[in-house]
Amino acid sequence: MKFPIYMDNNSTTRVDPEVFKTMKPWFLEKYGNASSKDHSFGWEAEAAVEYARKQIGALINAEGSEIIFTSGATESINMAHWGIAESYSNKGKRIITSAIEHSAVIDSLQALEKKGFEVIFLKVNSKGFIDMDQLKELIDNNTLLVSIMTANNEIGIINDIEAIGNICKETNVLFHTDATQAIGKIPFDLKALNADLVSISGHKFYAPKGIGALYINKSKKIKLSPRSYGGGQEHGLRPGTLNVPAIVGIGKAAEICKIKMQDEYVKIKELRNKLLKGITDNFEDVRVNGSMDKRLPNNLNLCFKYVKAENIIMEMRDIAVSTGAACTSASLKPNHVLKAIGLTGDEIKSSVRFGLGRFNTGEEVEYVINRVVETIHKLRSCSPEYIVNHKISLN
Ligand SMILES: *Cc1c(COP(=O)(O)O)cnc(C)c1O
Repeated sequence: MKFPIYMDNNSTTRVDPEVFKTMKPWFLEKYGNASSKDHSFGWEAEAAVEYARKQIGALINAEGSEIIFTSGATESINMAHWGIAESYSNKGKRIITSAIEHSAVIDSLQALEKKGFEVIFLKVNSKGFIDMDQLKELIDNNTLLVSIMTANNEIGIINDIEAIGNICKETNVLFHTDATQAIGKIPFDLKALNADLVSISGHKFYAPKGIGALYINKSKKIKLSPRSYGGGQEHGLRPGTLNVPAIVGIGKAAEICKIKMQDEYVKIKELRNKLLKGITDNFEDVRVNGSMDKRLPNNLNLCFKYVKAENIIMEMRDIAVSTGAACTSASLKPNHVLKAIGLTGDEIKSSVRFGLGRFNTGEEVEYVINRVVETIHKLRSCSPEYIVNHKISLN
């Protein structure tokens, strides 16, 4: 086993060595600009980019021509929100989203709020799900866009985006989904879903950081206003020289996910369930945050009563887990997702996220179980609150 053990795959993933190998020549040998029309360096780069578009399209059952390359999901999300808001503002001002979106969605929409758009953040229940009837009621003639994530990065819950897409279709409203956590982990079929815009990030499925994609439904003839201006690449939506090595990488990563997804789903889910059982068999007062049945196979978010997550993490330096989204833990605000599903401040501070991935092994999971058990026993044995409560329950 190699230490520290990486179990924070909802935050980012290791680049798959196969992906890295595929990328390497595009740095050192085939370094042409995909927009160069006058020589073979340019032609081969352009062909590689078009091939990667098809590889991503194949994973989500879309056409290559419906894929725009970006620097990641944050850029894709902003491009979708602001592109729609600017192009369709004559249609209305209302945008509907949920309270447990990634900060890229929440912050982008809050910025639009300041520009005069009306943004509704739908509440979620204790499992993490929105109320479909409420969504239906809130869509009015003034509604431009619904933006609801496919799967949550903190608690791993999977939304019924087929149902949400159908509501949007019936009411003739555009639907964007941040599918960053879902792509490559669970089936995602755009021929079965009514999603108009889909945000994707490479580094959540074993491609490098700094590369992502935005799917734009071609049949809807959606017009997005651009966020930046320049050389006209990506239909003028995302001008600038294309990052060919990273694009080759995200394409390869998509291809590998398409091949491995079914087996990997089963394998990772088994490891995750083993981890859950190993921990909960040993303790009372450990609770899973969010729905357990409609959940990503790799995510586990646990609340350990009587102990602080920061102390758990400090004790277990040999294991990389997290207390919340990497992007929001920098801001020290209480985790908005756990708050939205009804956790108290103390419960939020006692919650830890485990994110398994392609490279975790059964041996690692056993090691992590033992370390968690050891750590929780140790921390609880010096928690005054635990000792008091424990004695009371003995009487
Ligand atoms: C990681 C993540 C993002 C941001 O992706 P970047 O590519 O890092 O910008 C957005 N949404 C969700 C759900 C994520 O997990």
